[in-house]
Amino acid sequence: MSAAPLTLAILPGDGIGMEITQPCVELVQAALAKVGEPAANENWLEAGAGAYTKLGNALPHETIAGCRAADAILLAAMGDPEVRYPDGTEIIPQIDLRFELELYAGVRPVRSVPGIKGPLADPRGDQLDFVLVRESTEGLFASVGKGTRTQEEATDTQVVTRKGTARVCEFAFRLAEQRKARGHVGEVTSVDKANVFKSMAFWRDVFDDVAKSHREITPRYGYVDAVAMEMVRRPWIYDVMVTENMYGDILSDLAAGLIGGLGMAPSADIGDEHAVFQPCHGSAPDIAGTGKANPTAMFLSGAMMLEWLAGEKDNPALARAARLLSAAVDDAFADGTLVSTERGGEAGVVAITNAVSGALDQIALEDPRVK
Ligand code: NAD
Repeated sequence: MSAAPLTLAILPGDGIGMEITQPCVELVQAALAKVGEPAANENWLEAGAGAYTKLGNALPHETIAGCRAADAILLAAMGDPEVRYPDGTEIIPQIDLRFELELYAGVRPVRSVPGIKGPLADPRGDQLDFVLVRESTEGLFASVGKGTRTQEEATDTQVVTRKGTARVCEFAFRLAEQRKARGHVGEVTSVDKANVFKSMAFWRDVFDDVAKSHREITPRYGYVDAVAMEMVRRPWIYDVMVTENMYGDILSDLAAGLIGGLGMAPSADIGDEHAVFQPCHGSAPDIAGTGKANPTAMFLSGAMMLEWLAGEKDNPALARAARLLSAAVDDAFADGTLVSTERGGEAGVVAITNAVSGALDQIALEDPRVK
């Protein structure tokens, strides 16, 4: 007997967000149907630069309430460089939501999709499988909306707390344990700047405290500048990385470049009560409305959502739906002929959606990747 229908809060946001959300929701529903689960209830909600222009609020109260009431939140991308607050900063409801719902673990899987060549000459660069965990509620982003600015000087302060650091490090070590059970090496690398900043030396001490309760996982260390270099030189050395908010923001875009671009990079922002799933990229106003966007990162974020829900609801059918969607993405790109516009090809939203949808139809439930 299948479980009660899920309720999804769906925030398409701005720019290409509008174009990639509908196909993603359709694929999530198709994956649910194929594993015998009821269709999810869809609660489409307004947020973003468009909402700010229309309603004077980028993250309306009803949207927050809808997110709190949902089983999971699927968000595309928000922002428009033309829409700014009087202090010059952009509206950033996707970040406000992380603070509002205490979504402290920003999970950025960096997995090569077979058939998509990365930019590195070494063949190991096409078989990447590591996870960057970004602290998402403090660090330099603690200053959002609170920095100071005079005619001569502006400041933003980095805040690192024991609670905030311990919970994200704990998340990273648990993730490394789960990955180790699936054959990965079992390491967590603290990416910091403990040689220069008091806040980062403190971060490293808390990381070491957490490591003591996970003896089967090896703690490793890297300064963020050196790690940026290693991520280009030999990124296959990493298993799980955990890092401060701003470093994670920058390194996750670098990581996206390693697996074919922002259009291939999914993510999740996970807390103890709620979770948001969204691609790593923004609203791409330069290509919005042209149909050129690559929706794959959105699809893979949908698969991450189903996998997380499987754990939350203790429902293995949802994990099968997640694996089905992820395998459909792999099959769509496998023969190398589907090339997104961001990689110099012709395929945009429609062609990639059709290819993934067709692959999803073809995959048998007995496929070992799905079972
Ligand atoms: P961006 O990620 O939107 O775009 C960067 C570049 O990558 C652009 O050239 C864009 O065309 C390309 N790109 C991004 N996603 C793509 C996709 N799926 N397929 C093909 N090409 C893709 O970053 P930006 O240009 O710095 O920011 C644009 C807006 O998005 C800004 O308003 C910014 O604040 C916002 N933003 C939002 C988020 C979010 O919602 N999580 C993240 C980053 C930026």
